[in-house]
Amino acid sequence: MESKNFGFSTRLIHTENPDALGSATVPIYQTSTFAFKDSDHGARLFAGEEKGFIYTRIGNPTIEALEKSVADLENGFGGVATGSGMGAVTTVYMTFLGQGAHVVSTDAVYGPARGVIENHFTRFGVESTYVNTADIENIKKAIRPNTKMLYIETPSNPTMAITDIEACAKIAHQHGLILVVDNTFCSPYLQRPLELGADVVLHSMTKFINGHADIVAGMIVAKEKKNYDAIRNMMVNMGCNMDPHQAYLVLRGLKTLSIRVERAQENAKKIAEFLENHPKIEWIMYPGLKSFPYNEIAKKQMKGTGSMISFELKGGIEAGKNLMNNVKVALLAVSLGGVETLIQHPASMTHSKLSKEAREKSGITDGLVRYSVGIENVEDLIEDLRHALEFC
Ligand SMILES: *Cc1c(COP(=O)(O)O)cnc(C)c1O
Repeated sequence: MESKNFGFSTRLIHTENPDALGSATVPIYQTSTFAFKDSDHGARLFAGEEKGFIYTRIGNPTIEALEKSVADLENGFGGVATGSGMGAVTTVYMTFLGQGAHVVSTDAVYGPARGVIENHFTRFGVESTYVNTADIENIKKAIRPNTKMLYIETPSNPTMAITDIEACAKIAHQHGLILVVDNTFCSPYLQRPLELGADVVLHSMTKFINGHADIVAGMIVAKEKKNYDAIRNMMVNMGCNMDPHQAYLVLRGLKTLSIRVERAQENAKKIAEFLENHPKIEWIMYPGLKSFPYNEIAKKQMKGTGSMISFELKGGIEAGKNLMNNVKVALLAVSLGGVETLIQHPASMTHSKLSKEAREKSGITDGLVRYSVGIENVEDLIEDLRHALEFC
């Protein structure tokens, strides 16, 4: 369904359905290949003279329904689904970064999105500069004659730093760069980068868009046909396509995106207020709190404050471990954006192998906790934290 006249939640639910029998949900076309009616039909499909399906790596009705839906929600020309969020990231890099190209990006960007550039794309002569993109001056200074891409993530975790997408679009286009925005943390319900001037937006749909912690999946949406065609061609050739069953699950999760985000956000606001006044908390980062340093720009480009919180415990590593070992409702797990609340203490969990110095270089302080708020009863979540903080 493409009508821009309908509201966001209506468009989430009434996706275009390729089924001829009238099924209420998009069926799972669990097939690798599609039979041609005759040799002429096959020839026309391959020549692009007739629309149709050939082979699932190239395209599949279930996957296409999801691509059309997310592209519509992001207000883009077209979507390209991938097997994971990182599949989306690497497909975008492969499409737009050639030999000797330079990319400017957010320093606190999703770790593997930076790692793949610094550890692998260097083999092809790709250069990179990572800066705090919340300060636009840093971006201007980092641009070189061979810069091809500005790749930002906003808000970025754990700092929750917010980058001005509209200002980035202006700078990127002045210098002939493509602006790519990782919109995973907001979902199109809270932020639509293409409407603010970005060229390409990508998602780890593993997080908010699917929202049920049962699959990994990615999506790329381009504003213009030219970029869309280039991205699709790259994805098909690299073979990082989505599976039809994955697409079916994301279509199912997508229907409740707006009510999930609203509820999680409502919970997050109450939890942030509770934490801000707690004596064992050194600082807390959550958009909308008076102490949050990026409220002005957050208000300008986000339609809400989201459900991701980071905070620092006064008691350092030990306090972090004690918090982890005493929460009973929140799950101790990485990832975010699901219906279940997740808690993570990087210094003792994901980043425990790194030295304190190396951790702090990437903004991981000893008492840092990342908290992805779910849609449980907020009283239970607050009580869970209140109880566990007694041990910190
Ligand atoms: C999780 C995540 C990714 C990577 O997605 P996967 O689905 O895990 O491959 C990329 N960007 C952000 C911001 C993420 O949170």
